[in-house]
Formats: sequence, C-alpha cells, structure tokens
Amino acid sequence: MSDAVVIIGAGQAGAQLAMSLRQGRFSGPIVLIGDEPHLPYQRPPLSKKFLSERKPPDTLFLRPENFWRDQGVTLILGTPVAEVDHARRRIDLIDGRQMDFATLVFATGTSARAIPVSGVGLAGVYSLRGIDDALRLRRGLDAAARIVIVGGGYIGLEVASVIRSEGRHVTIVEAQERILKRVTGPAVASFYDRLHRDRDVEFLLGAKLIAIEGDERVSAVRLSDDRRLPADLVIVATGARANDDLAAASGIRCNDGIVVDEFARTDIPGIYAIGDCSRFPSARYHCRVRLESVQNAIDQAKAAAASIVGLPQPYDPVPWFWSDQYDSKLQIAGLADGYDSDEAIGDAGSARFSIEYRKSGRLIAVDAVNDARAHMMSRRRIAEESAADSAAGGASFPG
Ligand code: FAD
Repeated sequence: MSDAVVIIGAGQAGAQLAMSLRQGRFSGPIVLIGDEPHLPYQRPPLSKKFLSERKPPDTLFLRPENFWRDQGVTLILGTPVAEVDHARRRIDLIDGRQMDFATLVFATGTSARAIPVSGVGLAGVYSLRGIDDALRLRRGLDAAARIVIVGGGYIGLEVASVIRSEGRHVTIVEAQERILKRVTGPAVASFYDRLHRDRDVEFLLGAKLIAIEGDERVSAVRLSDDRRLPADLVIVATGARANDDLAAASGIRCNDGIVVDEFARTDIPGIYAIGDCSRFPSARYHCRVRLESVQNAIDQAKAAAASIVGLPQPYDPVPWFWSDQYDSKLQIAGLADGYDSDEAIGDAGSARFSIEYRKSGRLIAVDAVNDARAHMMSRRRIAEESAADSAAGGASFPG
C-alpha cells in the first residue's frame, strides 16, 4: 500500500503544503501534480507588476526547480488529474497514468467565472487566472485601442490601472450600481471610483453585458439598454468559481467549494482540501467561508500539513488580502459581511484612511488605504475581539 501524499494542484496552497510537510518531518513520498506547465508560482502580480513590467514567467516561481528535487517532491506538471477513486485510494491522470495514495489533498484553486453571453469565444476576449492568460493578454493589449473590462472587482480594477498607466483608454462595465460591491463598503469603493475617474477611466455602472459581438474577432460589446460599445479587446473579470468538480464527481461533499472541517479534512478519511477550492468553518465569523487569498492558501496549507503529520491545530484565521492600483495600496483584514456599522478613521476623502466595520459592537474587519500600520494593528485587534468566539471552535455551521 502506498504511503504517498498526493497533492492535486501545484499552485500557492499545493506548493506550501509540500514545503510544510517536509518542515514537519514528513519523510514519505510527496507528489505535486499540476495541470499548468509551469513550476508553482504566485498569481497576484499577474494583474499588477507582471502585466506592466513584462518580466519572464520564472520571476513568479515560488522556488526554482532544484528546490523541489532537493526536497524530494515529485512534480508532475502540465498533466490534469482526471479522476479520483477514493475507495481504491487511486487517481487517474489525463495521460492514462494511475497513482495510489495514502493521503490526497485537493489544492485545485479556482477558474475564471464564465459569463452566459454569446461571443465569449471570439478572438480578443480574455480572462486572467494564470501565467499563460497574462502573456496572451499582454500581447493583445499591445495591439489594442478600444479596451473594455467587464467587472469592477479587484482584478478588473488592477488591470485597468495597468492599462491607464500605459496611456491606453479603458471602459469598465459593471452590472452593480457601484464598483467593488461584493467585496467592500461604499467609502472604499468611492475612493477607488475617484482614483480611476481622475485618471480618465470610464465607468458604465448598473450596465449589464448581454453579448460580445464580432465575426472572428471581437468588435463591440452590447448592453441590456441596447447600447453598443466598440471594442477590440475585452477582459472578462467577473470573479471565479471553485474547482470542485473533480471532488464532487468522486462523491466528496461540495457546496460552492470542497467542504472541509477546521483541520482541512473532507468527509472522506485521509482526503483534504486547501486554498481557494475549500470551504471551511469559521467559529470566528460563525459561518463557512471560501476565501480567495494568498494568506488563506498558505495558512490553511500549513494547518493541513500539521493534521497530516498528526499535530492537528484548528484553522480559523483573521483573513487578510491586498490590492494594488496605481500607487495606492488597499489592505483588508477580516471579513466585513453582515456589518451593521462602519466608521472612517482619518479622512475618507484623503489618500490615507481606514474604515472599521463592526457587527453588534464587535470589530470584524478593517479596510486600510495606504496605511500599513493601521492594517497590521487591525489584524491583532480583530483577532483579540473574536478570540472568545474562536475558542469555542469545532462548532457546526450550515452549508
Ligand atoms: P491556485 O494558486 O489557483 O492553484 C491551483 C492550481 O491547481 C492551478 O494551477 C490549477 O490549474 C490546478 N488544478 C486545478 N484542477 C486541477 C486538476 N484536475 N489537476 C491538476 N491541477 C489542477 N490574492 C491575494 O491575497 N492578493 C492579491 O493581490 C491577489 N491578486 C490576484 C490576482 C490574480 C490575477 C489572481 C488570478 C489571483 C489573485 N489573488 C490574490 C488570489 C490568489 O492568487 C489565490 O488565492 C491563490 O493563488 C490560491 O492558491 P491555490 O493554491 O488555492 O490556487
């Protein structure tokens, strides 16, 4: 019988898990399998410096190839896992190879959310999840004059700031009445709205895309009020969905993400899920959450490694995230969902301020704009204020 830990997905979480297992003195075989052809790499620069600075892909790699060899981690790249048979403790790779496991970890991340409109397959329509997407987009941008971004979330806005910094014109089409609706409160959204408008980014808010038009190449986008915007490049940045299909097909419990407990364990013994693809219980926030952040990928991977080597520690973080646009840095601590009061610290009209979000008097999240100190302190304050709830641990939550 195999004693291997097999990790599906060679991204931020999968790579961290392999490293943490070795740091935790796990001496058995570790196999890290990725469907992309690249060594494990960091994604945040894809919508930021990597897009603007045109550096080679290996500048994003988390570790050089010889690191993985020295760690005794077998890398299988460019090869998706096609099937998981958890009863036989075996996986099938797309190339027909089979592999047995003692422990299996899903670290499959997310995919760009598809939009249900015609024309998404036309040349000139892009989404941005990986290195290859970014390289294609970079080439497309160099030849584009009329650029439309669909979606006013972080990735859309970050890409817009790169495009405007190069002097190109860009229009953002957002279905909600304001940008960043899903992810932050009105004050921070209005700061970023102003930041972009001051640099001549055009916003069409409350505007629903109904079709992308063109013959082989995109030539325009059409909106529900029948407006038609000429475009020779369209970036679809409408969010991401968890890559949980493989787990669901093998009978593992999923619900917009692979459902795990506070030790990253799925409902099948010896099978774990970590990072963007997992949904875990937060005693701190009284709900199950699925996070898309580097912090979560790294910290949940560390927690899973501890479980696998027999030193389980419940995972219940104060999540944090950042976004870089022009020369502004937004740092977010905690989760603001369901807040009932918010307060600006400093002048929300200035270049440096933070917004504190509370629920029933308790600090649950802080958005800090250009204020690293406020961000670091808020992570500690949120942790302290929610420590009592978190200590309850192990609670069960719907979903
Ligand atoms: P990923 O890093 O996505 O890795 C999952 C890997 O699994 C992928 O390579 C995927 O192709 C592979 N895979 C999927 N299915 C299979 C299969 N069947 N077989 C084999 N391999 C498979 N986070 C921040 O905190 N701050 C930021 O500023 C920020 N900016 C971002 C900008 C962009 C453009 C993107 C795309 C993401 C950004 N994120 C940011 C999010 C962050 O990168 C992710 O949260 C993090 O990468 C999650 O790590 P992961 O390992 O769970 O998933």
